[in-house]
Amino acid sequence: MPFSTLRSRGHARRLSTSLGVALLPLLLGLPLMYWQATSLLQARAERSAAAAQAQLDAMLDDAARLASAVIELSGQPCQAIEQVLRTQVAISPFSRSASLVHDGVIYCTSLMGAYDNQEDADAYLQGQLRLMAGNRVTPDRAVLVYRQAKEGHGALIGIDGQHLINLLRLNGQEVALQIAVGDSWLNASGTVTSANLGAPTAHAFESASSRYPFQVFAGYPPGATLQYMQAHYQPQWLLLLLLGALAGAATYRFSLRCASPGTELKRALDAGEFVPYYQPVVDGQQGCWHGVETLMRWRHPTEGLVSPDQFIPLAERFGLIVPMTRQLMQQIREDFASRVEQLPAGFHLSINITAAHCQDLQLVGQCREFLSAFPAGHIVLILELTERQMITPSEVTRQLFSELRQLGVRIAIDDFGTGHSSLAYLREFHIDFLKIDRSFIAMVDSHALSRHLLDNILDLSIRLQLPLVAEGVETSGQRRYLSQRGVRYLQGYLFALPMPADELFSALQTPPTADRHA
Ligand code: C2E
Ligand code: CA
Ligand code: CA
Repeated sequence: MPFSTLRSRGHARRLSTSLGVALLPLLLGLPLMYWQATSLLQARAERSAAAAQAQLDAMLDDAARLASAVIELSGQPCQAIEQVLRTQVAISPFSRSASLVHDGVIYCTSLMGAYDNQEDADAYLQGQLRLMAGNRVTPDRAVLVYRQAKEGHGALIGIDGQHLINLLRLNGQEVALQIAVGDSWLNASGTVTSANLGAPTAHAFESASSRYPFQVFAGYPPGATLQYMQAHYQPQWLLLLLLGALAGAATYRFSLRCASPGTELKRALDAGEFVPYYQPVVDGQQGCWHGVETLMRWRHPTEGLVSPDQFIPLAERFGLIVPMTRQLMQQIREDFASRVEQLPAGFHLSINITAAHCQDLQLVGQCREFLSAFPAGHIVLILELTERQMITPSEVTRQLFSELRQLGVRIAIDDFGTGHSSLAYLREFHIDFLKIDRSFIAMVDSHALSRHLLDNILDLSIRLQLPLVAEGVETSGQRRYLSQRGVRYLQGYLFALPMPADELFSALQTPPTADRHA
């Protein structure tokens, strides 16, 4: 599984997580804002209804005062008192008319003087209040009539509907208000209905007067809360969106850091997911197994076996190759320690080492510890250093290679022919083997010019008088060609693939055959 695929899968996961986090402030903020708007509208409805009710109470108090003043005149001839009636009405701030009742007959009014009409006392709620859509004087305008009765006498005080409409409009600028007197309802447009038909019901609140038989209702049309939020919470919306964007971006950055290949490699190292595979090396002259090269594999929990080409360069970049190799050496020790007797004495065991591992003397201790698990001389430890990464000679490297040599550790130049190692370089580090890169071995089967290149590499290594290992031997033709030119050690799919320890030890039971394994 290429690392790019690992990354793109992670990318989709990271993106969806970040989007989720980005939405979080909105998801949390929305109910909070809704709750806040609801409380606010509710409080506003309560306040408006209570204020309208208090004002209507005050109007009725005024009507009651006027009624108390004029009821004393009831019984006197209308002609004698009509002027007083008019004066009283004129000095009252809200009342528009006053009528006097005697023995159940309205006999005198401030509007028309002498009058003769039967009083309908039952039409008054609790004998006190009546809300009408209009009357004979103003058929299209509501009128609220306050009634006072005392020992066969009565006074009726008319309050013009316009005062009520003004009261509803002034207090109900942000909420719909209605006045209810029994079954009669008056809204801010001045319409009187016989029931609360179609009145706004959201966050409805009722404020009932304690002195007169009426209530003021407040309410909003459906969807008022959302409309309110849209109209008034723009800064909050913006803030939530901004917070969401910031949180999403921060999550994305954080997850990028967490999911960087370095972190993933570190996790795999801690989980022991890097394991050794072994590829045998054949002694072409003797026709026997000569040793093995350890090749690291990543046993990924979901991606399966990942090839080292995909993670070794990253491990080097993230400074993890040294601990990974150290852990690998411990695993090799465990694989070999109990079965070393099955191997011939002097069996070669190669490990790939990068230049980063040669910066200090740690490697000496690690090799010493590694070799201490085996009987002396039974295993020859070979460190393969690729020619592609040249090691700069220094006091430390000189001491390192000298101490390794004293321990019996051997050094091989890996991928020989692909870099620029000079004779001086090979001497400096006391090289014991050269491993010819498999790109040259593949040239055996190609045209003469390429084969000439391989021959040059072979000539060079023969002149250097170093034992040669050919890697990537895949065909019998390659094997024959190499053997004819004195290349003794051969490694490649022709003999065996890299394999886990159990398979290796059973493969080593039988002598090598040149069956193609690829
Ligand atoms: P390398 O050291 O040159 O290892 C030889 C590579 O050639 C291995 O690839 C092996 O599987 C492959 N190979 C062997 N025989 C044949 C063959 O007949 N045909 C072909 N086409 N290929 C063959 P692998 O295991 O994928 O390793 C790739 C590289 O990763 C290694 O190249 C080595 O440079 C690096 N590597 C592997 N394990 C380690 C390790 O533990 N530490 C370090 N630093 N590098 C490692
Ligand atoms: Ca190698
Ligand atoms: Ca190679």
